[in-house]
Amino acid sequence: MFLSNSLRYHLRNRVINLGCWPGLIKEYQSWLPVSDETPIITLKEGGTPLIPAPNIEEYIGRGVTIYLKFDGLNPTGSFKDRGMTMAISKAKEIGSRAIICASTGNTSASAAAYACRAGMKAFVLIPDGYVAQGKLAQALLYGAEILSIQGNFDEALRIVRKTAESYPVTLVNSLNPYRLQGQKTAAFEVIEALGKAPDWLCIPMGNAGNISAYWMGFKEYYKAGYANSTPRMMGFQSSGSAPLVIGATVENPNTIATAIRIGRPVNRDKAIKVKKDSNGIFSTVTDKEIIKAYQILASREGVFCEPASAVSVAGLLKYRNEIPDCAVIVCVLTGHGLKDPSCAIGNNTATFHTGIKPDIKSITKLMGL
Ligand SMILES: *Cc1c(COP(=O)(O)O)cnc(C)c1O
Repeated sequence: MFLSNSLRYHLRNRVINLGCWPGLIKEYQSWLPVSDETPIITLKEGGTPLIPAPNIEEYIGRGVTIYLKFDGLNPTGSFKDRGMTMAISKAKEIGSRAIICASTGNTSASAAAYACRAGMKAFVLIPDGYVAQGKLAQALLYGAEILSIQGNFDEALRIVRKTAESYPVTLVNSLNPYRLQGQKTAAFEVIEALGKAPDWLCIPMGNAGNISAYWMGFKEYYKAGYANSTPRMMGFQSSGSAPLVIGATVENPNTIATAIRIGRPVNRDKAIKVKKDSNGIFSTVTDKEIIKAYQILASREGVFCEPASAVSVAGLLKYRNEIPDCAVIVCVLTGHGLKDPSCAIGNNTATFHTGIKPDIKSITKLMGL
């Protein structure tokens, strides 16, 4: 595999200096706005694997290589931990004692975990009835104070912005610039694992913080000479919640992918610039296509992600005929499948025999033996 000399040098230094993964702030300290005075609040996030997807590759053919950046393997099960380690460390540095966020679920789980590590209080606003069960379970157990509002994410965000302006609580939504700084490290890891930048990066978009952060990371490594290209940024939304594709606010967004059920994306302007600068494409996939990709990932590749994450692969499959021959593509899987168990239970084609007599004969008969 071809590695640029500067990247090889960078990696060798890393292996020599560090015996084990120290969390992303320590790992990428010189690339992040931290100092020796910053208290590092970490759960050893980052360092997630790039998993090959041979069955999807074979389906697409033409020498295309597909990897899944499985950020569902972060400590609280989503990429939000990358941003949260930075946001909470910086909040701690300035002496903040409480944080607040609006969340479709994963931000609240992550904020709650890191706030607890930092000895800070976490207030989380969530849309009543639209947070997946696993995420709610996490926020409850990590000890956040949960405020479930009769409104959607966009309304929750409006309230927390106002609150953070007037009260002594730090906002940790992706408006907080430290979030994107932490999240850009995922792009560093992709380049290090591949030895170069991918040709395409496929990613779901909600508030579009993650696509903006990835692009920032790709550009920084490109400028440092660690890669000699940057990817086309392929951003996808659910067709019922696609403000960045239709170019207008969606008042009542709806999708099975609750993590991206957002009608007024915070990082809209940044995302539009990413699309332009990277010669990218923004497009929609239907909930049906999302579920199809979700099932393919689990049953063909053994990778269980949440519905919003499968959006990246649904988008890739939609654009499969436009992939250049022999292209290298990374699909970002933003969250773990266990976040949303009811989606899995309600959307599968498994053979599930119930009420079976507990004897070998009944069992082996059903097994066709
Ligand atoms: C937050 C989230 C997204 C959307 O990320 P943005 O930065 O808001 O675009 C996608 N998938 C999952 C699982 C998430 O938690």
